[in-house]
Amino acid sequence: MLLVIAGLVHSGMAILVARRHAEEALRRAEADFAHAARISMLGELTASIAHELKQPLAAISINGQAGLRWLDRPEPNIAEVRETTAHVLAEARRAADIIDHIRAMAIRRAPEQLPVSLDELIEESLTFLRPELEARGVIVFHEFTPEAPNVLADRVQLQQVIVNLAVNAMQAMEQADSPQRRMTISTSMPNAATVRCAIEDSGPGLMSDHMGHLFERFFTTRENGMGMGLAICRSIIEAHDGWIAADTGSAHGGARFYFTLPAVDTCASLSR
Ligand code: ADP
Repeated sequence: MLLVIAGLVHSGMAILVARRHAEEALRRAEADFAHAARISMLGELTASIAHELKQPLAAISINGQAGLRWLDRPEPNIAEVRETTAHVLAEARRAADIIDHIRAMAIRRAPEQLPVSLDELIEESLTFLRPELEARGVIVFHEFTPEAPNVLADRVQLQQVIVNLAVNAMQAMEQADSPQRRMTISTSMPNAATVRCAIEDSGPGLMSDHMGHLFERFFTTRENGMGMGLAICRSIIEAHDGWIAADTGSAHGGARFYFTLPAVDTCASLSR
């Protein structure tokens, strides 16, 4: 009898260990996918990235030339040279920040959990996306909630979610050839413990038979789609104790995707 019980306990433990290994393998595979998706997203954003870097480089060049002109005068104007040099340094720092930002998105590293402002993250994501959106004739609105508390999150992962949802909206509007392309990213507080972010577009909206499948892996209606973007978004948001959903309630008549995250203060009081 004891032997039977010991055998059962042993096989039960073996099942538990096997399940833990399988879960770890799944988490690793998901992290690999999320990383691969981020790299391919950066690929899609090369026009934006190039544009972002061109601005500080152009400013460096203009200020450098101005500095030389002030130096080449019969009486060099040192005060002006100092000022233009300061501009050069500030713009060089801006270019370095952009590169750091791209590198942070491209490298694979352990997720971190720090208090971040969702509106700040949206603004950072839009910095990347704006040139791409403007090139496609999309008018973007960002509606802030200044009183919104921070959320505890991995900056890069959360940015991946925002950029992914915005790129999806952009692609949907482009594919449907929507004459008026509009997108609003907003934050709100459904209650004191939750911050919500919504992305609304003026695309074709969502078909009711697709609703239940949007966040499933490999669900896609796009010709070259992979159907991984929304599945990755969901796994990131759920890992942050939030939830993500979609409906046709967009103020612009198309699709609306939204996710919620617990506010930092709630996280702190929960862990106490
Ligand atoms: P993919 O973009 O590779 O198709 P996603 O997981 O990002 O993969 O999206 C899955 C599907 O969800 C898309 O193929 C599309 O049918 C639908 N979808 C996503 N975002 C939108 C949107 N903003 N408007 C309409 N349909 C959308």
